[in-house]
Amino acid sequence: MFRYLVCASFIALSFSQECGIDRLPRFHSPSSLSLRSLRTGGALRTGWPDTACRPHAAYVIPVVFHIIHSGGLDSIPLPVIEAQMERIFEDFRRVPETRGFTPNGADTQIEFSLATIDPNGAPTSGVVYWRFNAPPLNWTSPKLCLSDELDMKIATGWPRDKYLNIWVVPIVCGFRGTCDTCMSSQVAGYAYYPYMSPIYADYYGSVVITTTVGATTTLRRRGRTLVHELGHNLGLAHTFEDGCGTTGDCFNEGDYVCDTPPTGQPNLWFRQQNTCTLDVPDLPDDLRNHMDYPEDPARYLFTPGQHELADYALNYSDLLPPLHEPTNLIETGTGPYGKVKARFWAESRRVLPGTPVRFHAVTAGQPHLYIWDFGGGQPDDPSSPCPTVIFPTPGTYAVRLIVQNLSGRRDTAYKANYIQVESGPWTLPYHEGWEGPTFPPSGVTIENSDAVQPHSRTWERWDTTAFPAGGYNSSRYSLRMAYLGHPHYGERDYVVTPAFDLRIPPTYTPKLSFSLSYACLSWSSPDSYLLTYSDTLRIWASPDGGGRWDLLYEKAGNSLSTHPNGCISHSGSLSGATYLPFFWRTDTIDLTGYRGMQGVRFRFEGIAGGGNMLYIDDIRVDTIRSVGTTTFETPQLHFFKNHVHLLLPSAQSCQWTLYDVVGRTLLEGSISTASPAHEFSLPESLPAGWYLLRVSGEKFSLSHPFLQLP
Ligand SMILES: [Zn+2]
Repeated sequence: MFRYLVCASFIALSFSQECGIDRLPRFHSPSSLSLRSLRTGGALRTGWPDTACRPHAAYVIPVVFHIIHSGGLDSIPLPVIEAQMERIFEDFRRVPETRGFTPNGADTQIEFSLATIDPNGAPTSGVVYWRFNAPPLNWTSPKLCLSDELDMKIATGWPRDKYLNIWVVPIVCGFRGTCDTCMSSQVAGYAYYPYMSPIYADYYGSVVITTTVGATTTLRRRGRTLVHELGHNLGLAHTFEDGCGTTGDCFNEGDYVCDTPPTGQPNLWFRQQNTCTLDVPDLPDDLRNHMDYPEDPARYLFTPGQHELADYALNYSDLLPPLHEPTNLIETGTGPYGKVKARFWAESRRVLPGTPVRFHAVTAGQPHLYIWDFGGGQPDDPSSPCPTVIFPTPGTYAVRLIVQNLSGRRDTAYKANYIQVESGPWTLPYHEGWEGPTFPPSGVTIENSDAVQPHSRTWERWDTTAFPAGGYNSSRYSLRMAYLGHPHYGERDYVVTPAFDLRIPPTYTPKLSFSLSYACLSWSSPDSYLLTYSDTLRIWASPDGGGRWDLLYEKAGNSLSTHPNGCISHSGSLSGATYLPFFWRTDTIDLTGYRGMQGVRFRFEGIAGGGNMLYIDDIRVDTIRSVGTTTFETPQLHFFKNHVHLLLPSAQSCQWTLYDVVGRTLLEGSISTASPAHEFSLPESLPAGWYLLRVSGEKFSLSHPFLQLP
């Protein structure tokens, strides 16, 4: 009658890990031709910061849970179901500051709402409990045998044109072979696409096993099995559907989604790799996708393309359109007539007095009433879901939001110590070399917006006195982002500086400078096709202390790299590919456009591409006279063949040392002249290869790599 497309999630007892297995009888697939005509290619809702005001989802789907149980611990209490509903909401709406957030995921604009009115018009909790051994089921054991599936669904399910039914059963058997085979491997859940003739509608919905339900913080179970199955109910396929495909036409094969890189096979654990090469551009696997198979905590991403495909299903599939009709929300007591849950977030949390801060309510239950308390902050519109607030006085502020919807239900969200208003801008000059006793140093914050996700990384202090030294100019420390082996593609991490007073005379030019050391990575291994992995550095300035941000600088890959080869080529294990800060470059940004402003803040944004280590040191915000004589702030070193030209701040004696690439001292010397300019020669007989020359003297030390050609 129908074909089973993919066997999905097993819980293999042998390595006690959920490898999601689910089953997708696909009666027919979405028409790729009509999909293509629908796609606009633009206006996708994604990115960070995402500043549009969207307090309400575009679609609400009423849901009901049917718990099949034995009367023991498999009888899931209502609070666990409500926690599961929060997990679903945060994942599908990508709510900032929750486990559902990732900077480069999509807000699908879809809300699942627990029914509060049953098919007879009576109040309900949205959860129905069924004893396995009592009517109407009368099973002999608490396990769902697939041969009993349709009987169970007909006996318990609510009308398919009004509710999305979710069945929770202790165990699912009979996936392979008979119902006696369920002890060797276990199905975590399975689901049906919405594209099937209404005569088969009784099958529609999701089935998950009891132990997957909830949103606990245990290692493997975070309620993501049901998020995955609901994805199927919305028409989404696995990212590994049909493997790598054969044509590279992402609109017409695989998962019909073009921004989910094709993936050769289900990924059961988390790692950096590239299993398919037909995609254009060739991108690495993104294992964080909800429609792949890593463990629950590691899956937290829907893409804009998946959002678009789900949008299509909501409007054009066989079974979904009636569910979100406004009249159906009234009849099922969902959406604006259902339960409410208040949530909010702010675009900036560290500002100056007077900085406009925009808040966003992202709330389940489609409320119409918003009551905010900013504790002294002044909102432009206190009843708006997205007010802009000015905090006139330095201090730390708590924020409270009360919401109410048409059902009369209310909920409150409260965040203590949420907004920091600093006392005022810093004055120039500013220098941060990360050498102080604390990290991050005073005035600097590290923002890791997906800190709650597993395997997350962010900016850290790199410390070594070995060779090469941790920082620029042989200093010990630098700021480092470890992108090597980091598969959170597109993840963004920020280093935010203090705000500076740039009210300086017009004859001075403000500038921002910093030193960096980086190499991208061209990598292949037995499990991963060759691919160039490239990370991105962006620098932003905020003229109002943290409200609005302007992009000043963006470099990636070869243009960011300071390595003379650009990317490092490597094959085999990634552990041998670590880039150490051998080659440095100093980049300078003109800030003339910000002269006269009194609260200019900067942020360094790293965007992950799985490349290699990115080091940053000696961030300076300073001025130079734009007329008259310029003084050199640092010593300068230039090479011409084997001649070294040195320009020092003053006439002084100094020492130089020549190292090879592993840090061995090859040659040493000293210079003493009455001039700040020096010149000396290195032996012409040096073997070909890379060397490091270090020169040190009174209050300075600098290092410079150079290449001896054959
Ligand atoms: Zn699946």
